[in-house]
Amino acid sequence: MDCIFCKIVAGDIPSTKVYEDDTVLAFRDINPQAPTHILVIPKEHIANGAADITADNAAVVGHIFEIIAKLAKEEGLSDFRVVTNNGEGAGQTVPHLHFHLLGGRTLGVEMG
Ligand code: AMP
Ligand code: ZN
Repeated sequence: MDCIFCKIVAGDIPSTKVYEDDTVLAFRDINPQAPTHILVIPKEHIANGAADITADNAAVVGHIFEIIAKLAKEEGLSDFRVVTNNGEGAGQTVPHLHFHLLGGRTLGVEMG
């Protein structure tokens, strides 16, 4: 499958991993928008994004948020933002469900 994040999961594309278990991988964004910018993804290719979360695949999303809380603590972040972009018009460039963990600077009040 021609999916950059599946290739990262498979180890075919290198990444700076910060967490990995059977179902979830977290790695540093290659183009960081904040001092901490980590992508947390299900290893399973959930295409395309948040609009494709269903009763069958939602469990991993809860687990992802558990990992986000752990990573935020490890990064020393009390203030942080979690973002998922769904669709090109919302800024999505990789059609494999992922959550951005951003922090380490003052984040604008504007969301969009
Ligand atoms: P989005 O635009 O919400 O789909 O997020 C995709 C993110 O993946 C962007 O922030 C990119 O900088 C990031 N990205 C793309 N390729 C890589 C890569 N090889 N390693 C790490 N992050 C990447
Ligand atoms: Zn994928």
